[in-house]
Amino acid sequence: MKITEIITSNKPSLSFEVFPPKTSDAFDTVKEATEKIAMLKPSFMSVTYGAGGGTSEYTVSVAKNIKDNCGVDTIAHLTCINSSKDDIHLRLEALKNAGIENILALRGDITPENKDKIKFDYRYASELVTDIKKHGDFCIGGACYPEIHPESVNQREDILNLKRKVDAGCEFLTTQMFFDNNLLYNFLYKIREAGITVPIIAGIMPITNANQIERAIKLSGSYIPQRFKSLVDRYGSNPQAMSQAGIAYATDQIIDLYANGINAVHVYSMNKEYVARNIQKNISEIIK
Ligand code: FAD
Repeated sequence: MKITEIITSNKPSLSFEVFPPKTSDAFDTVKEATEKIAMLKPSFMSVTYGAGGGTSEYTVSVAKNIKDNCGVDTIAHLTCINSSKDDIHLRLEALKNAGIENILALRGDITPENKDKIKFDYRYASELVTDIKKHGDFCIGGACYPEIHPESVNQREDILNLKRKVDAGCEFLTTQMFFDNNLLYNFLYKIREAGITVPIIAGIMPITNANQIERAIKLSGSYIPQRFKSLVDRYGSNPQAMSQAGIAYATDQIIDLYANGINAVHVYSMNKEYVARNIQKNISEIIK
C-alpha cells in the first residue's frame, strides 16, 4: 500500500524504523530482529540505507521480507550522494522487482571521509525525486528538518529548498528527530505558510542509553531540553532505569503529538524490539 494512504486516514499511525546489516554474516540476526518488530503490526516500517550504497541490496531484501513474510507495508530509503544515474536506475529496478512501492528519497550525508570522492550525478534529493518519478509509480517521501538542516544558512532558505523537493514530487515528509515538540509545531506553521501542504510524519528517537545522546546530537544537531538532560544526569549510569526513562520521555512526546493533531508518528526504533513494543504498549488505547 502507498504510505500516503495510511498517513492520511483518520486513524493515528505508529511506524518503526529499522536498519539493514552492513555485511552478509549479520543478515540473519537483522532479519530476526526486524521480523520481531514487524510482528507488532505497526502501520508500516522503514528500512534505512547506507550512504555509500554498501547496504543497498540488504535494504531491498529486508524491506521485501517484512512486506512479503510479515504483511507490513514498507518504505525503502534510497540515497544518491555517491551514485551515478545508472546505479540509481538499477536500484529502482530492484525495488520494483521486489514489489516495494514506497521510497524515502535522500541525498545522504557529506562526511570528511566521502567529501573528496563524491560523484555529483545528483546534487540534491530533489533531483533524485525527479528521476524516481520518471522510473516507476513509486510513492516518494523526503526528509525535513524542524531545526534546519546543518548545512543550511537559515531556516528560510532551508524551507525554500524543501518546497523545491515537494514541487519535484515528494508526497510526504519525515522529520529529523527532535526532543521538544514546540520546535515541530513552529516548523509546521512555517512550512504551511510557505505553501508546503504534504503530510508530515513526526520522527521520534527514544534515547535508551546515555551514549546515544552524544551520537544523536552529533548526527542531528538537535536541541536537548533541560527536562531531558536532568533525566540523563539522574539515570544515565543505570541502564535499565535509563531505558525506562527514555521510553517514557518518547511516549510523552508521542501522546502530545497525537493530542495536537499530528496523526503520523515514526519511531527510530533501531532494530530494538523492546523499544518498539514498549512504546506501542504505552499508547495502545490512543492508537486503537
Ligand atoms: P536535501 O534535501 O538535498 O538537502 C540537503 C541540503 O541541501 C539542505 O541544507 C538543503 O537546504 C540544501 N538544498 C536542497 N536543495 C537545494 C538547492 N536546490 N539549492 C541549494 N541548496 C539546496 N542518510 C542515509 O545515509 N541513509 C538513510 O537511510 C537516511 N535516512 C534518513 C531519514 C530521515 C527521516 C532523515 C531526516 C535523514 C536521513 N538520512 C539518511 C540523513 C540524510 O541523508 C542527511 O540529513 C543529508 O545530509 C541530507 O539529506 P536530504 O535528503 O535531506 O538532502
